[in-house]
This record gives sequence, structure tokens and C-alpha cells, in this order.
Amino acid sequence: MPPVGCGRSCWRGSAGTGTAAGCTPPPFRHPGKINPFLSYAGGSVCPVSSFEADPEVGPAAPATMELLEGAPVALGGPRGFAVTRTLPNRGRRMVGAWCFLDAYGPHDLTGSAGMRVGPHPHTGLQTVTWLVAGEVLHRDSLGNRQEIRPGQLNLMTAGHGIAHSEETPPEHSPLLQGVQLWVALPHAARDMPPAFAHHADLPVVTAAGLTATVLMGTLAEATSPARCHTPLVGAELTLSAGAEVSLPLLPSFEYSVLTLDGAPVIGDVTLKPGPLLYLGSGRATLSLSTGSPSRLLLLGGEPFEERLVMWWNFVARDHDEIVQMRADWSDATPRFGTVRGYDGPALPAPAMPITRLVPRGRVR
Ligand code: MN
Repeated sequence: MPPVGCGRSCWRGSAGTGTAAGCTPPPFRHPGKINPFLSYAGGSVCPVSSFEADPEVGPAAPATMELLEGAPVALGGPRGFAVTRTLPNRGRRMVGAWCFLDAYGPHDLTGSAGMRVGPHPHTGLQTVTWLVAGEVLHRDSLGNRQEIRPGQLNLMTAGHGIAHSEETPPEHSPLLQGVQLWVALPHAARDMPPAFAHHADLPVVTAAGLTATVLMGTLAEATSPARCHTPLVGAELTLSAGAEVSLPLLPSFEYSVLTLDGAPVIGDVTLKPGPLLYLGSGRATLSLSTGSPSRLLLLGGEPFEERLVMWWNFVARDHDEIVQMRADWSDATPRFGTVRGYDGPALPAPAMPITRLVPRGRVR
């Protein structure tokens, strides 16, 4: 295959200030059925790396391309906030440790309350909040109150348990667009004390026609300061009109891309907003092109081999753990703490299903 894109891209990474803790090194399909109980209810400029893409490598030959259709979900009921859920998907529940992906907007908030997600609990996961337009105000039971804007990351590590609320602040932009992601925590971290971090200064990687902001993990040797617990990457890619770029990937990771704006071309797929394109593993590069300006989310990671039970806002390992988490929330035990300042009721847990919940692998 001939060289694709800009060929010998020269990557310029710039890291945010502070220590890039990054990921701890490895100690190591839908619409059909969605789980109705799952809810979610500019870096400074100091070059840290330069990467030369190898034009001889090109895209991996028989690479996987699976289009995972999204399911429309109304958070908070039929008149609620409309999102498109692509993870978990029927045949593909996770990409790396990424186990949940809701995309929404752009919503015109004129005459609308916008996002109103009352206090609710989480366990065993990290919530990753990323906006393309607008603002969301986060409050949690650790006492954090943090407004987030486009280009910033809110990372909440639930661990043993935390509660939070999310709302459109009273003073806000006319449009709201973003994604809500979850990262499953591995066994060693899933019961850790809860934590929250706001990252307003994320590393940015640039090449001709491309600006990539690294939310989590590492891309082209630029590493996000956000703390993650398995090898993974999450990055927003902004392509200018006419861009042809080639991204360096890790063959040991599996990857996926979601279009947020525009209609970029990946392989022979023109990917419009909606479905998630699963790319599998074994790739050293990913070639992208676009006629008009476009924006994508790149999500990848080492395949997550632990089996999970995901129910409502909890990630656990078996049915009995979920029963306990649900009881701890319903009984208002200290496990989840209290969210202060949200003008509205906490969300009650739904009833448990009649049958026992079964742990699932990353591929059902
Ligand atoms: Mn939540």
C-alpha cells in the first residue's frame, strides 16, 4: 500500500505543566438490547517528543472494521435528555477499559433546562466528561464543585463509591454537546478510595491538518496527566478541511473512533456522527482524511480481560456485589456520601431484575 496521508508526519507534542503521571504501566454490536438500567444518570508549549511515522508501515492490511450502531436513550425518561449510546454494544461491550459511551448534542438549550442529572452513585469505574460545546457543573460527595468547558477533562474515580450530580449551570452557552464515558477499573483499583480531578491543561499533539488533545493515556508520546489504571488512550482529534493524517497506534491496543462533527474517512468508511467504528488491534497506524473540518474521539486500550457486571451506575464483578451497592445507596449508608448544593432529589436505584445478573466479557 502506498504511503497515506502526510507520509512522514512530524509530530509535535506539548505537555501540560506538572508531572505527567500517566497510566500505570501494565502490571500486567446494537441496537438491539441495551441495558435500560445503565444511566449516567491548551497546553503550554514545551515539546516533549517528535515522532516520525514510517511511511512503509501504512495501515495494517486485513484490519478489523466494525460499525457499532448507537442506541437512542432518553436520560431521565421519555422527555429527558437525548443521548446516543454506543458502549456497551451488543457484540462489543468494551474497547480497552472503556465500557460506556454516551454522545449528545449539539442540543439547543433555548427554553430548556439542559442537563439535569440529580445525585447518583458510582462504583468500580472512572467517569470521563468531555465537552465539545457548552458547560456542565459537576458536584460530588467529596465536596468538589467544578464547572467544565470544552477542552477540559473532568475525571471522577469512583472506586469504592462516590455520588455526584451534573447540571447545566444557570449562565450557559446556547449549545451543549459532549460525551460521557466510563472506564472500568481493574481488580487492583476498583475498590480504591474515590477521587476527582479537573484537568484544564491537557497535552496537545499537532501535525499538518491535525490537532489532537490527549485526555487519557498516551498518543504519539504525549501523555495526559490524568490518572488511569490500565493501559489506554482517549484523545480528541480535530482535522482541518482537506487533512490527510496518519496516527501512530500501538498494535497491542484495540481502538475505536467516534465522529463528533463532520464526516471523516477511515479506510473505506465515511464516519458520520452516530455509530462507533471499532478498529480491532494489530494496527501500527491509523489513516484519516476529511474534506470538511471534522472532530473525532479516539478510544483505545489493552483488551480488558476481567468479566464485569454493569448495572445502573455500578461496575462490579458479580450479582451479589450489585445487590450490596444498591442497598448501600438506597439506605444512604456513608459509602457514597452526600452531594450538597444540587437543587433536586437524588436518583433512586431501579428495582433489581428478577434473574441474577451475569458477568460479561468484553465481547459478550
Ligand atoms: Mn454519573
